[in-house]
Amino acid sequence: MSKLRRSAAAPLAALVFCLLGAAAQPARSDATGCQRATFRVVLDVGHTADIPGADSARGVPEYTFNLALADTIKQALLDAGFDKTVRLITATAPWRGLVERAARANDMHADLFISIHHDSVPNHLIETWDYEGQRHQFSDRFSGYSIFVSSDNGDPQGSLAFGRLLGLALQARGLRYTPHYTLPLMGRRQRKLLDAEAGVYSFDLLVVLRQTRMPAVLLEAGSIVNRQDELELATPERRALVAGAVAAAVEDFCAARSAKRPATPGPASKRAKPAALAR
Ligand SMILES: [Zn+2]
Repeated sequence: MSKLRRSAAAPLAALVFCLLGAAAQPARSDATGCQRATFRVVLDVGHTADIPGADSARGVPEYTFNLALADTIKQALLDAGFDKTVRLITATAPWRGLVERAARANDMHADLFISIHHDSVPNHLIETWDYEGQRHQFSDRFSGYSIFVSSDNGDPQGSLAFGRLLGLALQARGLRYTPHYTLPLMGRRQRKLLDAEAGVYSFDLLVVLRQTRMPAVLLEAGSIVNRQDELELATPERRALVAGAVAAAVEDFCAARSAKRPATPGPASKRAKPAALAR
């Protein structure tokens, strides 16, 4: 390019920069160094419309609860500036559907994966009652949220760190975790409690946690087979409370990750993994 043409092009380039400058600049960090506009959170809506998980004590499928809570959490994250938040839904049945969820999160290069669920109990603990002329299943024995992480995840330390932040944020809002997963009566659903303060359990074989490369947790937001908890979990107020906790935990996690940069998380574990489990 000649000197003349370059000098003629300069004002135009300046104008284009002024017009497009904001979009062309790298994402801005907040005071903590977290680049909220580029930090991608994937919200996995547990189960599918066709295979919707357990019914609540009053006969509402778990998927309905998961979808409503994921929508509220997504809005809370968007409001907090996490513009790249994605709600992940699939119609594909497990197992393929679960593998697909993890693959999509990996392809999106998500920074954090949160699978949204609502809890039930093993069949041997189920009781029955009549509600509005219909027979339904319930169990009032256990109450509260629980959080699960997998040591086979691509970033198990990050998963546990986020799980702790999330548990503490839920408790700061008056919620409590259920300790019953440590009990022998849970049988094959018995889990090791990794963080007894925050309520984070180990669940190594869960597909969506072990096949994701980024930090990943599964949140059971509460027990929908518990007749009192179900009523509370169905309210916009409870959804907003949980969404506020998730947004606060994501903010803290993003800040902590930014403080650690440029060190990057270690690569996904290369060791052989046993067969995975669905949830
Ligand atoms: Zn579920």
